[in-house]
Amino acid sequence: MKEFKQAMACAALLLTTLVMAGTTQALAGGDLQSVVDEAHAKFKDLKDGKNADYIPELDKVPSELFGIAIITVDGKVYTAGDVDYAFSIQSVAKPFTAALVMEEQGVEALHEKIGVEPTGMPFNSVMAIQLNEQRSVNPLVNAGAIAAVSMLDANSPEQRWDMLLKWYSDLAGDKLTLLDDVYVSESETNYNNRAIANMLYNFGRLYSDPMEAVDVYTKECSVGVTAKQLAMMGATIANNGKNPKTGKQLISPENIPELLAIMFMAGFYDEVGEWAYSAALPAKTGVGGGIVAVVPGKMAIVAFSPRLNEAGNSVRALKAIEYISRSRSLGVFGPNPF
Ligand code: GLU
Repeated sequence: MKEFKQAMACAALLLTTLVMAGTTQALAGGDLQSVVDEAHAKFKDLKDGKNADYIPELDKVPSELFGIAIITVDGKVYTAGDVDYAFSIQSVAKPFTAALVMEEQGVEALHEKIGVEPTGMPFNSVMAIQLNEQRSVNPLVNAGAIAAVSMLDANSPEQRWDMLLKWYSDLAGDKLTLLDDVYVSESETNYNNRAIANMLYNFGRLYSDPMEAVDVYTKECSVGVTAKQLAMMGATIANNGKNPKTGKQLISPENIPELLAIMFMAGFYDEVGEWAYSAALPAKTGVGGGIVAVVPGKMAIVAFSPRLNEAGNSVRALKAIEYISRSRSLGVFGPNPF
């Protein structure tokens, strides 16, 4: 019996050592470059899905583009493919705007004035506003994101926009700019978002002039970002709010758990359950084809490719990040390999 117990203890020790060695290995630089290369090679020939076309300019983006970037909390960068192409950030901007509202007014103000519940409905749903008493529901759907813009402390539309663009640039550690063609294209077609803003205002759940909020929101979605810049924005969240490149503490560490919780619950359109089940990472996707996922305390993983599935998520980007998370056991609930 004694020998048996000793053998078991040895086996347990060996297992722990192997698991720890595995984790260390998974996070070693060489392996991060390998996993990025593997994911790119594995999914580059996937042709499923199609570009978003309800914003005409997005349909013109070359569908074959595909880039993957990982940035760790110590600022190391691992990339494959088209990581220097500036694509339209679209809804991936939303958690970063929510972070600014939290910085200015605290997590409780965001909770009270917007809400944090996932809707289980499309991101631009008008019905979700009618059915839920909180109306704006959460800052990662259009209603909540327009409400978040309206909450920013600004005296003019110009100031509202300037502070937002500066905030994104600080997070990226690089100067970001507006993609004018996307902005014009979306402004000419955003009747649904104007309806959302008017409805929220009617319910007392919008906190500035409605058309000002929609316009600044439309600009927010039209910001150009490369996969590398977006990965730095995500790595700032992963690094407890401190930008790994510039060393600036941008988001207060105490706001990070709430921010990640919202991303986990509402970051993946109405496919968020599938995503949590498979990749198990807080993330945000956008109809421009970008996805940012955060491995808290470790890194951000970004992938970009324009063709979207029915839910509005980039097919290749989704597959690439899912592969990286599962094959290297990066999910927040522990090992979950293929
Ligand atoms: N600008 C887009 C809209 O408001 C954002 C959609 C998205 O990326 O989810 O419809």
